[in-house]
Amino acid sequence: MILVSGCLLGINCKYNGGNNDNAVVHKFLEGKEYVVFCPERASGLPAPRLPSEIRGDRVYSKAGDDVTEEFQSGAEKALAFCRAHGVTQAILKARSPSCGVHAVYDGTFSGTVVPGMGVTARLLADNGIALMDEEDLIK
Ligand code: SF4
Repeated sequence: MILVSGCLLGINCKYNGGNNDNAVVHKFLEGKEYVVFCPERASGLPAPRLPSEIRGDRVYSKAGDDVTEEFQSGAEKALAFCRAHGVTQAILKARSPSCGVHAVYDGTFSGTVVPGMGVTARLLADNGIALMDEEDLIK
């Protein structure tokens, strides 16, 4: 069973109220079993919402509010969802502070990307779920 970031399949759960609908992801999933999840919406954060970035071991909104607790809650809900559905693999949205697999924005809201993982991605990886992002599908 594959977990997929909701925004990659057209769900309007992204911070700006939109999505990252991705034809490559749709194509990859043809004939496969998958479930869809958005950790940030699951945590109770609204859509739209302010963008957030990871700085050190915390997560901050663009207004400077510490939203670490919400992001951690979303990650724990994602892990519980994976366990409930027998998920062994996930396709997550690149560079998100929740879902980023290989890199994240650096916390300065300047568009600068640094190596790292989103909060949910980290928890899923630590619990044995194999991760890839949508860009890995075209490598
Ligand atoms: Fe997409 Fe993940 Fe952000 Fe939700 S938390 S909008 S699924 S990248």
